[in-house]
Amino acid sequence: MALRIYNTLSRKKEEFVPREAGKVSMYVCGVTPYAPAHVGHGRFAVAFDVVRRWLEYRGYEVTYVMNVTDVEDKIIAASQREGRDWREVADQYNKAYLMDLADLSVLLPTVMPKASEHVEDIIALVEELIESGHAYVLDGGDVAFHVPSFPEYGRLSRRDLEQQIVGARVEADERKKDAQDFFLWKAAKPGEPSWDSPWGPGRPGWHIECSAMSRKYLGEGFDIHGGGADLIFPHHENEIAQSEAASDGCLARYWMHNGMTNVAREDSDEEKMSKSLGNVIGLRDTIGRVGGPALRYYYIAAHYRSDIPFDDKALEQAASALERLRIGRQTMDRLLERRPKPNGADLEEIEEARLSAGEDFHEAMDDDFGTSRALAALHGIVGAVNRVGAEASASFAPSEEGRHRLSTARETLVELSGLLGLSLDGRRVGRGFATDLVDLLVDVRRKARDAGQYAIADQVRSRLAELGIVLEDRPDGTSWRLK
Ligand SMILES: [Zn+2]
Repeated sequence: MALRIYNTLSRKKEEFVPREAGKVSMYVCGVTPYAPAHVGHGRFAVAFDVVRRWLEYRGYEVTYVMNVTDVEDKIIAASQREGRDWREVADQYNKAYLMDLADLSVLLPTVMPKASEHVEDIIALVEELIESGHAYVLDGGDVAFHVPSFPEYGRLSRRDLEQQIVGARVEADERKKDAQDFFLWKAAKPGEPSWDSPWGPGRPGWHIECSAMSRKYLGEGFDIHGGGADLIFPHHENEIAQSEAASDGCLARYWMHNGMTNVAREDSDEEKMSKSLGNVIGLRDTIGRVGGPALRYYYIAAHYRSDIPFDDKALEQAASALERLRIGRQTMDRLLERRPKPNGADLEEIEEARLSAGEDFHEAMDDDFGTSRALAALHGIVGAVNRVGAEASASFAPSEEGRHRLSTARETLVELSGLLGLSLDGRRVGRGFATDLVDLLVDVRRKARDAGQYAIADQVRSRLAELGIVLEDRPDGTSWRLK
């Protein structure tokens, strides 16, 4: 069966055909690191990590670019508010986010380019747009994209002109030729980061950063462009306009958007998470509470395109569902310790469960990455195992055939879970890879101190501090937090 992907451009599921056989190029809009990440930032990263893992499993060589928007109004505002350099602000929150991603078992993208390191590429693209008449310089050194110069504007979001202006909250500016025009380059204001350009010192706007970086790493056209559904307009609409006005072809063939992570309320309504509503749920806090693996399970228990309400009950359910898979695996380990007997159990039911789970899993994933159905398939194997386990008396033994079937089913369960980024190995349930590593270092430092090796202990503390991890010694032990 072919892989089908829901394409926001056509509002339909389409068969996935990459530009180049065997290869997939994919760009996903990453975070603006100006504050601690919230649970929505974990969700999109997990959603596209699942996409990447499935494409790789299907034999594609994937080039995955996720940018870091480290030049943006919000970072500048944070740096002024906190009275420190914008680079420090962006670097700190970006490092913390990378740690969150490690805890969520998100594989690092092939490249994570930072806007601040690509200003030359951005300037070159803006120059091209000016030369071809799609952009113009305003008095004062700003540069704007002229939306009427790109007649296909609105193709992705399917909004009419009036909605577009309302949705974009476009900055009103008398110097603009058209109300919809948006800024590609902003002239420097005192105290803001700036770079030299043909139009005087300034900095790039957010939208152009993605067009320049995707072009640099993936070329003028690529296969998949992803991001949260809240980015469809205006960000992705503007990316299309900038990139396609500067080239002949289309920017991306498939546009994928993940649903929003909302806050569940007592009246069973959902509301959007936002800083202004003061209802933001922190990613690090949540990982600290339930662990990265359980949070990852929670994200993929829903389809990536649906909006999900975030509440503690759903999180607990995810944690226990993951635990059920782990225990299922342990039951298999235990049954496999029994010596096979010639007249032992053939375990046909395990074989049947394995075959149908494998089929369901593949079908579900090929149908626009249906992770909830894929997880149900895994639970199908565990259900069969649990029935065998519950009936197995002390004298239970599999036949040679039964043993083989059980061990193949275990392999399938572990492999398919791994494709979703869920590890079922027998070790203790950790809070996530990065968190477990820091716990380990804290423990090593304690042992060094107990043994009087203070130089080593101090070194561990200061190296962790360089990474933004602060240790706090208390009478009852050492705790740590991100700076
Ligand atoms: Zn973007």
